[in-house]
Amino acid sequence: MDLALGPEDRAFQEEVHAFLRDNLTPELRQAGMRTGGVFAEMEAGLRWHRILARRGWSATTWPKEHGGPGWTATQRYIFARECVAVDAPRVFNMGVRMVGPVVMKFGTPEQKAKYLPGIVSGDIVFCQGYSEPGSGSDLASLRTRAEPDGDDYVINGTKIWTTFAHHANHMFLLVRTRAEGKPQDGITFLLIDSMKTPGLTVKPIITMAGDHEVNQVFFDNVRVPRSNRLGAENEGWTVAKYLLEYERGGEAYTPNLYARLEDVRRIAREERADDGSRLIEMRDFSERLAAAEIEIQALETIELQVLSDLSRGRNPGAISSAMKIRGSETLQKIDGLGVEALAWYGAPFEPEARTPGWNAPTVAPDYGITAMPLYLNNRAATIYAGSNEIQRNIIAKGVLGL
Ligand SMILES: Cc1cc2nc3c(=O)[nH]c(=O)nc-3n(C[C@H](O)[C@H](O)[C@H](O)COP(=O)(O)OP(=O)(O)OC[C@H]3O[C@@H](n4cnc5c(N)ncnc54)[C@H](O)[C@@H]3O)c2cc1C
Repeated sequence: MDLALGPEDRAFQEEVHAFLRDNLTPELRQAGMRTGGVFAEMEAGLRWHRILARRGWSATTWPKEHGGPGWTATQRYIFARECVAVDAPRVFNMGVRMVGPVVMKFGTPEQKAKYLPGIVSGDIVFCQGYSEPGSGSDLASLRTRAEPDGDDYVINGTKIWTTFAHHANHMFLLVRTRAEGKPQDGITFLLIDSMKTPGLTVKPIITMAGDHEVNQVFFDNVRVPRSNRLGAENEGWTVAKYLLEYERGGEAYTPNLYARLEDVRRIAREERADDGSRLIEMRDFSERLAAAEIEIQALETIELQVLSDLSRGRNPGAISSAMKIRGSETLQKIDGLGVEALAWYGAPFEPEARTPGWNAPTVAPDYGITAMPLYLNNRAATIYAGSNEIQRNIIAKGVLGL
């Protein structure tokens, strides 16, 4: 495997670099820097999405025929690396990352025409209605029911942990359309065209970092046209599993990890130990920073191997589970170093300081505003997108044959 970029990829890197220099405004960059969770504040993220869309770069993983740039896996990695290096906002993009590829594979021509262009432009924003109270890892046990009634389904039940449901205008969800038989065989995949559909209620769940990211969504006789079904009735499990491949395949891990490590280094350069020396100069701390960097480098090698597999049309298999485990655990380790470096300046509870444009004085120094929220929010990284225990089960079965 040759890790050096070839001339074409280097030219592409220059192109991305120039685009970011010319289009990423200081306000958008601030929104990126002040992100204390997975996604940037919605309004800023959407503004950035629309700028990318004008350049044809909003749906980075999509083929040209559906409005994507048709990039290679290496180009996508370069793009991700360049974006995080300059704190571009991380866009809430479940439409691009998850449901879009599923519509391409299972959608009718009408459904493709109805949803794909809007996802690319940013007019259609999807949230994901999979998990329910009592049905997370064991997703097939879900109980939200949809009864056929004339040209519609009528939905009753609830979904939980629905990220950004309060910002989305569309939802993709799994519903139970048959109670008998194997649980997997009675599930249907539906698309909801408006979060304002009568009977649909979104209630916030505030995280321990003080953020409103996730919600519980309630369905009380919500009517959805049958034509909004993706795939056949009772065959939604096949659609759902295809989508999870995209969710778990995820985005490039290591560019974000390098960027987060650099944030911690920045804190450690500013903060001083009790004897007045800079934290970054203290042997114990700098050794732990170096150990984290080595972990990222090892992970990057695997990630590049996965990219190389993908670009040759090979399925990376259980290695993506290993990456999810190591990537999320390394992220949490780096978050821990950030909080440790900031010491008591990590404690003030100032969620308002992370709103874009906030310019009132803060207790924590500017470079430390996101350290504690990231630490708290990223506790979820080992839970969402398939918990790490579930990923270990996949490796145990797929690699170790247990
Ligand atoms: C921040 C955040 C955002 C989320 N966003 C969304 C979203 O937008 N849409 C959505 O649908 N869902 C979302 N989720 C839900 C997420 O997918 C679930 O939390 C996850 O699948 C785990 O399910 P659970 O919470 O029900 O835990 P459970 O499945 O009850 O698991 C509890 C614990 O038991 C372990 N466990 C369970 N089964 C096994 C097993 N077979 N073997 C070994 N260990 C096991 C788990 O690993 C976990 O540690 C989000 C979750 C979080 C935390």
